[in-house]
Amino acid sequence: MRSVAVLGATGSIGTQALEIVGAHPGLRACALAAGSDHAGLVAAARAHGVERIALVDPQAAAAARAAFPGEVLEGPDGVERLVAEGGADVVLNAIVGSAGLRATLAALAAGADLALANKESLVAGGELVMEAVRRSGRAMLPVDSEHSALAQCLAGAPEGAVTGLVITASGGPFRGRTAGSLADATVADALAHPTWSMGAKITIDSATLMNKGLEVIEAHHLFGVAYEDIDVVVHPQSIVHGMVRYRDGALLAHVGHPDMRVPISWALTFPERAATPVPTLGLTAPLRLEFEPPDLATFRCLALARAAGREGGTAPSVLNAANEAAVASFLDGEIGFLDIAALVERALDEVAAEPLASLEQLEEADARARAVVRDAVRTAA
Ligand code: NDP
Ligand code: MG
Repeated sequence: MRSVAVLGATGSIGTQALEIVGAHPGLRACALAAGSDHAGLVAAARAHGVERIALVDPQAAAAARAAFPGEVLEGPDGVERLVAEGGADVVLNAIVGSAGLRATLAALAAGADLALANKESLVAGGELVMEAVRRSGRAMLPVDSEHSALAQCLAGAPEGAVTGLVITASGGPFRGRTAGSLADATVADALAHPTWSMGAKITIDSATLMNKGLEVIEAHHLFGVAYEDIDVVVHPQSIVHGMVRYRDGALLAHVGHPDMRVPISWALTFPERAATPVPTLGLTAPLRLEFEPPDLATFRCLALARAAGREGGTAPSVLNAANEAAVASFLDGEIGFLDIAALVERALDEVAAEPLASLEQLEEADARARAVVRDAVRTAA
């Protein structure tokens, strides 16, 4: 029996992960964490027989204690303790944002395998995280669909045989649009993703293409491939999830329905490849697969992310934090769609990048980037 701690258990990935855990006789949920949704977390804990939960928000934790007989930890420290003391075989980190970085490091320090959906922890702290993976000797299994695909296409690759990675992008709801026509794009327009159903933050990141920028940085750290060898290609059908180029001319692709239960199950049951409710792709009806280059002039976040990744040090942390703050402001109706890229660029200009020294330094860079965005939004209001 493999015990699983699910962090971000009330979210899009978290609830799908609990579905996978509930359906597999060899998996058992042992600890759950969320931000503030106490009712959702308590219901999930009851449904899965979990006795220890954590909520970041203290008021939500108090409400959970009134309704739940098990142990309720609180605050970011509570989430870290849940991971450190939970004894899980595998920690699925599906927290949204760089708030997940400490939990990623805690899971590796605790000697658990890590199923990582929280790409922001690799973007912000890639070098620290990969060093922690090496020290722990445990597996880090990506849940992000493109990286799950790449990991599978890379399995067994001989030394020196890989010449590049290709990450696919659906293009989001604004594919084909010009920057001018996006000035007054609404929150509802940006949330209308054509192929994937996900949490609000990553859905906006998909509309700006920042999600692909974060994924390029994620792939660089996960697979140790140079930035110039990681391509992004727009593929509106979201059927091909990732591809690996080999020196003999082969391009290996991972192909399937866009359904996150497949990569979640792969990571939680590795190397078993347990059955899921998702069928393999039927090939009797005509199938059209299109590929086109991304429009970097309209979707500036992708180029900003690549530049921050290449710069390294604290730059990706600044990029990520500024993006989180700008996306939150956009979702709150405070700024326009095109302001997201402008604010990220401003934070990268104003917060000078430093060589990486510590987690505390990354968190300080993160806070400074958020402050730049907050001040800019307030001044413009
Ligand atoms: P959601 O917004 O749906 O869920 C986020 C989860 O994180 C919720 O359970 C939320 O709790 C919890 N949470 C928020 N803040 C904190 C915090 N500070 N500490 C602990 N828990 C917190 O997001 P998604 O499930 O869409 O995404 C989760 C992660 O997975 C992101 O990093 C995203 O990029 C990545 N990912 C998601 C994909 C998808 O298909 N959704 C695909 C690939 C990657 P509460 O409900 O209480 O707010
Ligand atoms: Mg992805």
